[in-house]
Amino acid sequence: MSETYDAIVLGAGAAGLFCAATAGQRGKRVLLLDHADQVGKKILISGGGRCNFTNIHTAPDRYLSGNAHFAKSALSRYTPADFLDMVEAYGIAWHEKTLGQLFCDGSAKQIVAMLLEECARGGVTVHCGDALGEIDHADGHYRVAFGARAATAPALVIATGGPSIPKMGATGLAYDLARKFGLKVVQPRPALVPLTLPGAEALFRDLSGVSTEVVARCGKAAFREAALFTHRGLSGPAILQISSYWQRGQTVTTQFLPDRAEGWLKDAKRERPRASLRKVLGEGLPERLVDVLCERLGLSGELGAMSDKALAAAEAKLARWPFVPDGSEGYAKAEVTAGGIDTGALSSKTMEARKVPGLFVVGEAADVTGWLGGYNFQWAWASARAAGLAI
Ligand SMILES: Cc1cc2nc3c(=O)[nH]c(=O)nc-3n(C[C@H](O)[C@H](O)[C@H](O)COP(=O)(O)OP(=O)(O)OC[C@H]3O[C@@H](n4cnc5c(N)ncnc54)[C@H](O)[C@@H]3O)c2cc1C
Repeated sequence: MSETYDAIVLGAGAAGLFCAATAGQRGKRVLLLDHADQVGKKILISGGGRCNFTNIHTAPDRYLSGNAHFAKSALSRYTPADFLDMVEAYGIAWHEKTLGQLFCDGSAKQIVAMLLEECARGGVTVHCGDALGEIDHADGHYRVAFGARAATAPALVIATGGPSIPKMGATGLAYDLARKFGLKVVQPRPALVPLTLPGAEALFRDLSGVSTEVVARCGKAAFREAALFTHRGLSGPAILQISSYWQRGQTVTTQFLPDRAEGWLKDAKRERPRASLRKVLGEGLPERLVDVLCERLGLSGELGAMSDKALAAAEAKLARWPFVPDGSEGYAKAEVTAGGIDTGALSSKTMEARKVPGLFVVGEAADVTGWLGGYNFQWAWASARAAGLAI
């Protein structure tokens, strides 16, 4: 015997919880299923345990997708201010950390508790800890087996996210289901992920722990934030951001000392000919990094002894220091998965698959990937809201 509902939501992460709560509060009978022993595990570890739950600068151009227009509708109908209203209604204290990123003052647990309370207000049945079994569609109803039980509903919401951080329970189920129901999948890849450097760049890997502000560039994308050298390569916000745009074989450049005006090294030579390049670079960069940069530039000694041409070449290299990563640290370290269920088959207003009535895709499972800094949760809330209102 199957239990019957109006909707079954697969995945009790950010998007699944909010979608279930939204539909439940509209009077729909909703079953929310997750194989993990606990809901919202990624929310709990997000933002260093404080959950960067939205970004006030949310705009469609801060998302990567095969269809740049897809996210517009949902994002415009459920905004950061809307989510913030709910956070404040629950008395959760928050602050803006940097670049529009809003964090809890206390703990990410407060966000999960809020979402669970919203589900309870909507009468949502939450079931965790059992593996999902067969998922079928017949006679206008979806049937989902879980543990020793089964449920049916005319609506099924895929909210199982992407495969990043498998140890948190992430799987590729969303893509398997998409293929089963005839939806295309844009090749998934790790994003917001540290990049690895080949052996030839061992000097930079020796800088593990050194961090400095740069402008990281790849193709047309550019991010000004901190870069961090690691024992495997490059990380830090600027690199995580650029990793989402990076494809194997491409060069990532970092601009060191991004505030220096053009010609600054020649000016320094004129003003302080006795100063060494090491000293001048050390005025804006960590010492260990300066050592490696000077070694790579092949320049040492006083500025006055260097030709203007050599200084111009050094300056140009510092402004576009090239790194050719040989890979990334993969799904084990990726904050998100880029790619995913092709939005071409989905309604941007409701997240419903146009050719599969009653099938909805929300959150990271879809081919919509935000920048670092609260954008991914905002997409989870907005897409979940759109589907929750349409079920
Ligand atoms: C370390 C880390 C920190 C992050 N910090 C931030 C941040 O501060 N701000 C931000 O905006 N974004 C952050 N993100 C990204 C953000 O967590 C995700 O984009 C967001 O959680 C996606 O929501 P979702 O509901 O689509 O998927 P998820 O939150 O991943 O939820 C998917 C759910 O589906 C369940 N599931 C998966 N497979 C199955 C299966 N086979 N059967 C049953 N259930 C299944 C999972 O257990 C999970 O509960 C962070 C990510 C990581 C990994």
